Amino acid sequence: MDGMKQNPEQVAEAIRNAQTIAVVSHVNPDGDTIGCATAMRLGLLALGKEVTLFCDCKIPDTMSFLPGADLFRHPGENEGPFDLMLSVDVSDERRLGACEALKKASRMTAQIDHHPTNPLFMEINSVDGEAPAACLMIREQLAVLGVPLTEEIAECLYTGISTDTGNFAFASTNAECFRVMAELMEAGLSLARLNRILFRVKPREQMKLLGRALESMRFDGNGKIAVMKLTRKDFEECGALSEHADTVVNYGLDTVGTEMALLAREGEDGKVKFSLRAKEPQRIDDVAQKFGGGGHPQASGITMDGTLDQAVEMVLDEMIKKI
Ligand code: 5GP
Ligand code: MN
Repeated sequence: MDGMKQNPEQVAEAIRNAQTIAVVSHVNPDGDTIGCATAMRLGLLALGKEVTLFCDCKIPDTMSFLPGADLFRHPGENEGPFDLMLSVDVSDERRLGACEALKKASRMTAQIDHHPTNPLFMEINSVDGEAPAACLMIREQLAVLGVPLTEEIAECLYTGISTDTGNFAFASTNAECFRVMAELMEAGLSLARLNRILFRVKPREQMKLLGRALESMRFDGNGKIAVMKLTRKDFEECGALSEHADTVVNYGLDTVGTEMALLAREGEDGKVKFSLRAKEPQRIDDVAQKFGGGGHPQASGITMDGTLDQAVEMVLDEMIKKI
């Protein structure tokens, strides 16, 4: 956390001095990074800015209801120039993916993020490793900019706050989440409708994939580690996409007696993607970092080369050492 700083004033100044702004979400985008970018877009439009949204990956269908979700672009050959590039919820440079090229096309670079492992890779860094969601920092940023909340902005911010806190259930959930939620409700947030969209309604493919993952669950480390694997075959036979596995790892941690959970999925790109979770006081961000990954103490991820089984054994060995 040393050197970590929340810097809304400096970011606000960069925004005021810019006309064309590229707002960038991380690869494998989640509700927080998309909520941040779409809320920021609406706020910047209200200030009369020209905004372009970028993401190296497709936006998950579950987030398509958000205002502006259909406007995200993959970076092309000759983008820009932009007065400002602003990345949101991006924990390190590699998570920009192809959007990293936008740095060269931008006169100034800034970021708003909440990952404690963030190496402060932009010119202006507003990073608060203790914020439960980057969307909470965006709410603060909009307040500093003098942008009033609207129902649309509230939808975007709620999406990030609720998804990053596991629907207000993770240990990271704090009083600030509810203070901001009160403001979002006052702005007209349609809570019941959005909660259903974000947390309950699931496509059939996702239900089928969940079945496969639960079927694969085994236990190691004296029953304290739940391990699930999803192969390409599982995805293909269920007709499912990688995003359909995004919350599956939680079932591992919800099983009686477990302290850590691991979900490994084979990606279309041949890489293995890990989702790691831990119950306090256990942590797994140190394990993730050993393999080039990162994230939060109790929720981290890794993307690596190799076969599914070999990769799982390597990561599992490190987790067993901690039990
Ligand atoms: P998830 O398991 O939900 O994909 O990710 C959990 C957390 O770990 C998120 O905060 C995410 O930012 C981080 N994370 C996921 N995958 C990676 C990765 O490949 N590299 C790094 N550095 N962080 C990741
Ligand atoms: Mn986040």
